[in-house]
Amino acid sequence: MDDRQFRNAMGKFATGVTVVATEVDGSIHGMTANAFMSVSLSPKLVVVSISEKAQMLDKINQSGKFSVNILSSFQQDLSMHFAGQQKNHQEVKFDLLEGIPVLPGSVAQIACEVTAAHIEGDHTLFIGKVMDLQIEDLEPLIYFSGKYRSLTEE
Ligand code: FAD
Repeated sequence: MDDRQFRNAMGKFATGVTVVATEVDGSIHGMTANAFMSVSLSPKLVVVSISEKAQMLDKINQSGKFSVNILSSFQQDLSMHFAGQQKNHQEVKFDLLEGIPVLPGSVAQIACEVTAAHIEGDHTLFIGKVMDLQIEDLEPLIYFSGKYRSLTEE
């Protein structure tokens, strides 16, 4: 099995899209991620999987905190921006939740403290204890087979 076949198969798992964000020395860093899931209800834990190639890896290792922002159907441009797929520099406004930067206009903002980091292959799994969260009544952005989708047919 080659890498492309593996990626194609994993892409058949339809997901939402998140932007993971953190702050180090007063500088906010965001990154698009769909490798996110809920881990535990008691205590409330989530996990994100971050590539060894991503700048985000060192940032979370330094801050020990991150937010997961579940993107709305209106935020595809932000997904592309935080995946480094847009050439233009874009100013992005963040709010704070528990002192952690979060993206306004997302479906859910989840502020976490890292409780464990597991290096697995070329990614690190950060387990985050949920400190606080906010939910908005918006439609989510969907990602399937390498393309953005929405829950409602247009
Ligand atoms: P960069 O590539 O340097 O930053 C990403 C972009 O965000 C740059 O354009 C940068 O200018 C901008 N940016 C960062 N902070 C700010 C700020 N404060 N204000 C304005 N702009 C800012 N990779 C994973 O490791 N795990 C995943 O689960 C994952 N899922 C993905 C899902 C999708 C749908 C896509 C499209 C990509 C996914 N990626 C994932 C790939 C990942 O998003 C990219 O490789 C990303 O470029 C890595 O980011 P970086 O931390 O290296 O930082």
